[in-house]
Amino acid sequence: MPTFLSCFPSKQSQITEEDALIRSSTKSDECIFCNVSKGVGFNVIYEDEELIAFHDRTPRAKIHLLIIPRHHIASSVRELRKQHIPLLNSMINLAITLIPNSSIPKMGFHIPPFSSVPHLHLHVFSGKHTFIGKFKYPISGSNDHKGYGWFVTPNQVLNTLHQGKTVGTGRG
Ligand SMILES: [Zn+2]
Ligand SMILES: [Zn+2]
Repeated sequence: MPTFLSCFPSKQSQITEEDALIRSSTKSDECIFCNVSKGVGFNVIYEDEELIAFHDRTPRAKIHLLIIPRHHIASSVRELRKQHIPLLNSMINLAITLIPNSSIPKMGFHIPPFSSVPHLHLHVFSGKHTFIGKFKYPISGSNDHKGYGWFVTPNQVLNTLHQGKTVGTGRG
């Protein structure tokens, strides 16, 4: 099994916008998150036409889920545009449903190159982070937390997209 749950920096292949568009419209046999299912060992807890949620194999908090779009809509948060706002909202709402004890769970996206799986995925946490978790997924109680270049909250992404901008490293 590849070590797909480590989201530390990995070699990033620079892809052009055009490549991204072509990629996003195809299902890749090579993309592990395009092939998520219970049958191949994922602990899937929710799925519908649009989204799949499953437990991260290396939990960095008491509960550590990943929510992904079923289709390869984007490789990462960097490729999101204004038209993806409804998708983001669906991901946020699902996170809230799956973590019922907190009104808004801690959650966020890695910004490449700080992301190991090139298929958009939202990390969702409940309970205290582990020591490594605090470093890899730096979010405070507030989902509006800013100041880190490698991890953004969905609200930060929404604000950026609403302004017609795109997410990049070093920008909240
Ligand atoms: Zn994929
Ligand atoms: Zn990640």
